[in-house]
Amino acid sequence: MTGVRFTPLGGLGEIGMNCMAVEHDGRIVVIDCGVIFDGRGLGVDVVHADWEWLIDRRQDVVALVLTHGHEDHIGAVSYFLRDFDVPVYGPAYAIALVKHRIAEHPWHRANRIEYRVITEGSRLDLAGMTMRPWQVTHSMPSCFGLVIETSEGIIVHTGDFKIDDRPPPGERFARDVVEPYLERGIALVLSDSTNALTPGESGGELGVGEALEEIVARATGRVIVGLFASNVHRMRMLFDVARHTGRKVVPLGRSIDTHLRIAQELAILKDPHDVLVRREEGRTLAPSQTLALATGSQGEPQAALSRLASGNHPDLGIGEGDLVILSSRVIPGNERLILDLIETLERRGVRVISRSIDPRVHVSGHAHVEEQRSLLEWLKPRAFLPVHGTFVHLRAHARIARDAGVPEVATALNGEVIQLSDGKLRVVDRVWSGRVHIDRGGEPVDGRVLADRRNVAEWGEAVVSFVVDERGALVGEPRITTRGVVIEADEPNLLEDARDAVAHALREIRTPRLVIDDETLEDTARRALRRFFGAELGKKPIVTALTHRLARA
Ligand SMILES: [Zn+2]
Ligand SMILES: [Zn+2]
Repeated sequence: MTGVRFTPLGGLGEIGMNCMAVEHDGRIVVIDCGVIFDGRGLGVDVVHADWEWLIDRRQDVVALVLTHGHEDHIGAVSYFLRDFDVPVYGPAYAIALVKHRIAEHPWHRANRIEYRVITEGSRLDLAGMTMRPWQVTHSMPSCFGLVIETSEGIIVHTGDFKIDDRPPPGERFARDVVEPYLERGIALVLSDSTNALTPGESGGELGVGEALEEIVARATGRVIVGLFASNVHRMRMLFDVARHTGRKVVPLGRSIDTHLRIAQELAILKDPHDVLVRREEGRTLAPSQTLALATGSQGEPQAALSRLASGNHPDLGIGEGDLVILSSRVIPGNERLILDLIETLERRGVRVISRSIDPRVHVSGHAHVEEQRSLLEWLKPRAFLPVHGTFVHLRAHARIARDAGVPEVATALNGEVIQLSDGKLRVVDRVWSGRVHIDRGGEPVDGRVLADRRNVAEWGEAVVSFVVDERGALVGEPRITTRGVVIEADEPNLLEDARDAVAHALREIRTPRLVIDDETLEDTARRALRRFFGAELGKKPIVTALTHRLARA
């Protein structure tokens, strides 16, 4: 008996790209398959966990189970399904998002994917385990944790959660589903560490609605609320705010359209059309009747808020007297972009209220320290494994568990195989883990290609080509072209000198052999040009050298 083995491939050691393999009786269930937002740029669109190790065990993988529809849990499903032909279990909302995403990928064989919607009454018999979804409160509709019955006892996975005792309609923190298991004792808890460094409690979602209503009611000009489109309950509350304040809702941004459509299909958002207008109508509304919902609260340059800030949005113009509320958090790494966004808006005369000005305009969807502690005091597990966080978050969460009296606490990182057997948690093995960068074309990019792109972006590049005779002696002059180094038209003398430097170096090659080979020529030219730019400009671009050898007449 090897117990239950957990192999995190993503999410343990970082915030994002959650993906964990749970192995029982020699078979594997994968829980969540998300993306991470850092590492993008340089043509990289999507970054997800490297599941090479799982591919080696493809025959044993029986299912993918999704806890909820956030990108860090489902964003890589379409890629996962290229490699694994398994059914996908998940809440209706998450499944609808996955289908939407797959429909955008022309390369996908969408008709063969088997989807199974889970609800609170579901029972999943997978890999010799029984999994029961239990609904948790978080920051989007239909979020679940899992109660898992295994040969090693009962395991509770919280998924992403917060404890909101006054949740939006349709949401609940389903203590009653877990309660019957408590008398048998909980062997292990795996729980979300995102806010393990944030004291206190996260606060209820409904309080945000009340604060937004108060602010909008006082505003006289246009109000634009920047938020995460997946926060459907907040959007729903803003529809009510619009009704109460005599405004119309203008949706700005593709992901807002997607979520509004899915939320209506699933009857989470009912009959919004008394206040929802088409975005093209934004310009015809009076400022005092305008309440826009906009994407781009992280300062993303192409998103609606940035385009509003720069005056480039086709459907709405904003200015003096208008108000932007950033009803969202700052994702670490985006600070600069968000400050730039606020600066541009304020220069346009727009007032900006962010969470740092009025903390009531946003609450986190992740449990803070007091909620994490009360969860552990409620479940009283024998063992605890923190998940979803950087190492610092995981360690902080482990301390909370020890303080709460959990006897067996472990911390592990991506690629470590953690085994639960006889009540003990141990790292028993290590597998390959890492990140896969996916290009805009939908294919993985090799790390060396990314290193090249980074170097070219950093230093620019130069290409030198030249003609030699059959013995390798230079014929005529080398030609040089550059990108990202200098404006060539402005620097004729510099390029002339560069050509001379390369020609000189090529003529000076001393070799006992009769024929100088291409490699020697190209290496010489490359080094001469790098040395020249280094001396003249204090920088060494990436240089490519190409030999053209004349055939013997
Ligand atoms: Zn989430
Ligand atoms: Zn998450």
